Amino acid sequence: MGKVGGFLELEAVAANKRPVAERLGDWQEFETLPNEATLAEQGARCIDCGIPFCNTGCPLGNLIPDWNDGVYRGDWRAAWESLEATNNFPEITGRICPAPCEAACVVAIDDDAVTIKNLERAVADRAAEEGWLAPQPASRPTGKTVAIVGSGPAGLAAAQQLARVGHAVTVFERDDRVGGLLTHGIPDFKLDKTLVERREAQLRAEGVSFRVGVEVGREISVATLQSDFDALLIATGARNPRDLVVPGRELGGIHFAMDYLTAQNRANAAHSRVPGRYCAKERRVVVVGGGDTGSDCVGTARRQGAESVINLEIVPEPPAERDASTPWPHWPLLLRTSSSHEEGCERLFAMSTERFVGAAGQVERLCCVGVEPDPGGGFRRIAGSEHEIEADLVLLALGFGHDSEAGWLGELGVALDGRGNVAVDAATMATNIPGVFAAGDRQRGQSLVVWAIADGRRAAAGIDAHLMGETT
Ligand code: FAD
Repeated sequence: MGKVGGFLELEAVAANKRPVAERLGDWQEFETLPNEATLAEQGARCIDCGIPFCNTGCPLGNLIPDWNDGVYRGDWRAAWESLEATNNFPEITGRICPAPCEAACVVAIDDDAVTIKNLERAVADRAAEEGWLAPQPASRPTGKTVAIVGSGPAGLAAAQQLARVGHAVTVFERDDRVGGLLTHGIPDFKLDKTLVERREAQLRAEGVSFRVGVEVGREISVATLQSDFDALLIATGARNPRDLVVPGRELGGIHFAMDYLTAQNRANAAHSRVPGRYCAKERRVVVVGGGDTGSDCVGTARRQGAESVINLEIVPEPPAERDASTPWPHWPLLLRTSSSHEEGCERLFAMSTERFVGAAGQVERLCCVGVEPDPGGGFRRIAGSEHEIEADLVLLALGFGHDSEAGWLGELGVALDGRGNVAVDAATMATNIPGVFAAGDRQRGQSLVVWAIADGRRAAAGIDAHLMGETT
């Protein structure tokens, strides 16, 4: 815990956001941390609550009161050791996690939560500055080999855990760069890609081999992986976009959000310009879908110089305060306004798109209708609420299904659950095929980085126990 009574005398201080006009001019991260003295005060707000619900609110079981206390006392090394004990990539979750830990913080019952996420980022950034991220290679090899398919946070967390206990790990990645959605989906203004590259270098130094540009099921067969490796982890994510199958969908100027975001991330990495079809400059942009992906499209379109941005959401506007249906310490149902929304966008709720209309093969407007929840399920249209929205660029951010690698998963004979996710034993992440494990979005469905890391760690423990008979 922090200072006795600290939460009674000290206010929560949020991260600083760069001014909107400034941050729209570049792709740099938009948040900066308070100074060290203020961070120590934030650590001091952690209370002796007896049962730290933050610890279980976090899928990783992060030892949050311990590192809060370390920051308060100025013992950054101790804070780092307790943070690193449960989280492979805290500099990443410290930037982009929605922080279910803060929703579960006891102080948040009737005050602002301890600013756990900022403290996490501060400790992780300090560790990097101090050189505490040095590689931790295993003292001796086990002689066992593991193939991991997919280099997103689930695959990377598993790879690190397995390499550190001495297994020879090879990660197969179909993209040209490591990181999965950390690299290709999440915009640079939320997550600087040098952080992912730094972890890649650390993993390589710990003995992990990466084979990028190799798609399992295409460049290499799963039968080869099964014969060449002692265990196999499926960590292939869920990147197949849901479509909006309505008349006019074939018109030009309508793109999936991930194609759009990936194009911009690739352009940033190559210091080049984004292809014209993915550039929102001086265009009227409509983002269909209001989740994280939709919000990232809004921020990207603003930075590209969009004339206007409208974000459509089919669900009704959530309440401004925590809803009674999600009492503390649950993740609250409430209206969330992201930094991208703050950068300038009109948000329209309870709105459904019925068709796209255009000319000369190019989209010009969306025909929309107001909707309300249907007690029988789904949404029903509100007669008389039809209207049109003009648009030159439409981005579809309607969520994701699974990648189309059903071929090689089918070949493997892996069982799926009722939602099409790879079915696993929840404790070990083992599938129905001996020696084959699964983690992350491919096993859980589209989720969060913190869950992917947690799943990857659990799968690594399951694999280690499978290979060695026990695991530490
Ligand atoms: P992924 O990150 O998807 O990685 C899977 C990897 O497997 C990919 O690199 C893919 O190329 C590779 N692969 C697939 N098939 C094969 C194959 N056959 N052979 C070889 N390689 C293969 N979460 C948050 O917590 N905070 C956020 O702010 C946030 N923002 C997001 C923004 C966007 C735009 C999106 C799309 C998601 C966001 N998420 C966010 C969710 C988060 O990114 C995912 O939950 C997380 O990345 C899942 O990790 P993963 O390792 O399971 O899969």
